[in-house]
Amino acid sequence: NPLPLADVVLLRNQCLVDGHFIGTPSDPVKNPADGAFIANVPRFGAEEATASVEAAKRAFCAWAACTAKERSQILRRWFDLMTEHHHDLASILTAEQGKPLDEALGEIDYAAAYVEFYAEEAKRVAGEILPSHRSDARILVMRQPAGVVAAITPWNFPAAMITRKIAPALAAGCTVVVKPAPETPLTALALAELAQRAGFPAGVVNVVTGDAVAIGSVLTSHPAIRVVSFTGSTDVGKLLMRQCAGTVKKVALELGGNAPFIVFADADLDAAVAGAMVSKFRNMGQTCVCTNRFYAHADIYHAFVEKLAEAVGGLKIGAGIGEGVTQGPLINETAVQKVERHIADAIGKGGRIVMGGRRHTLGRTFFEPTIVADANDRMNLAHEETFGPLAPIFRFDSEEEVIARANDSAFGLAAYFFTRDAARIFRVAERLEYGMVGINSGAISTELAPFGGIKESGNSREGSHHGIDEYVEKKYALVGGL
Ligand code: ADP
Repeated sequence: NPLPLADVVLLRNQCLVDGHFIGTPSDPVKNPADGAFIANVPRFGAEEATASVEAAKRAFCAWAACTAKERSQILRRWFDLMTEHHHDLASILTAEQGKPLDEALGEIDYAAAYVEFYAEEAKRVAGEILPSHRSDARILVMRQPAGVVAAITPWNFPAAMITRKIAPALAAGCTVVVKPAPETPLTALALAELAQRAGFPAGVVNVVTGDAVAIGSVLTSHPAIRVVSFTGSTDVGKLLMRQCAGTVKKVALELGGNAPFIVFADADLDAAVAGAMVSKFRNMGQTCVCTNRFYAHADIYHAFVEKLAEAVGGLKIGAGIGEGVTQGPLINETAVQKVERHIADAIGKGGRIVMGGRRHTLGRTFFEPTIVADANDRMNLAHEETFGPLAPIFRFDSEEEVIARANDSAFGLAAYFFTRDAARIFRVAERLEYGMVGINSGAISTELAPFGGIKESGNSREGSHHGIDEYVEKKYALVGGL
């Protein structure tokens, strides 16, 4: 066992199907910080995916028929177990994903918070009685679980992206099949182990690893699956949406972003820099709500660049388990190459490197946190998501202009701005074409708020009481002859 776990059983190397851990571990999972082997996981294909969907289908009726309180209590136990084992979960997460241990702990607690919230919300999935068009009839609206839910999740938040889909689904009375990212299946399997201990009946929670295309085609075509909830790249999201058309499934998508971060001249610059650090460099820039473009007003441009550079100079790069480390490795070589391409393109088009710009001397996929000043709209980084530790800073002159430039994107996930003008706060927040806006804050994620995007960033909301809507169907019943 290469990890210092208090409970070694959490390092599961088999898939959870119908209440049993099964499959031959064959595909290696490696630590991005040093390439070390951690464990093998099974390589499931269409056949095993179909078996897990059928198990979830068999489990559905009984789970949907449980009282909300029964479902709530099992979810609550799962939350308690995640909290109790959060150090082990964080160790597994950091080993396979790379983020600093403190951030991993933060993610586990954040992931668990969705389970806690939906354990409570399970009891509040209420229907309605609407005023009727006839005096001898009543209109009932029931909110019923949609059916079997497929969750396909990415590597950047190996725990939270799973719980914020399946906690509301399970609370609503749906059963689930989870396909985690191949880079980070071990966190998912550890969560599955704790779900077993929490007492979910067999088949309610299933987790399958392996061939993404084969599993994905089953999850998007099997008639028992009624909802496909996906977080990941825009291209794969569009593909899955097309595949789901064949059986008219509900599709909940959380895709890429291209977040603008606007610093107005009247902003508290120190607060803006603190917000910029969180929104840009958390998880090494690998979150879909990470700032991709900084816009600083001409009057404070140099001051902002200088202060940001000073803050970036304080980051510590290293393996996630290292003391005081704030920046781990990027997930893989492809991720590093994209950052390099964006930097080279920016320099070719007049960008100026203020800090970083190269691979880190630690080698592998470690990269220097980078600031590029004098950014302009012709650069690729103005239109594409970098998904890495690169902060380009554009200059702007007027509110009108910066709103237009911020909105000039196919994406619409998160946007941020800093200002002390109350009227501007409402004016700008209302005009930004984004699903989420952070105002005087670089951190927006919480289980208490509806997370999600518009345009090509997605079509669903996760978190808050809204997050359960994806997993319930409204049934209308007319009761006549009264
Ligand atoms: P990234 O580029 O960040 O890895 P992806 O969109 O490729 O993002 O991956 C997100 C999730 O989608 C992962 O679980 C991955 O295995 C899965 N995935 C990728 N391609 C497919 C596909 N064709 N069908 C189903 N799932 C897929």
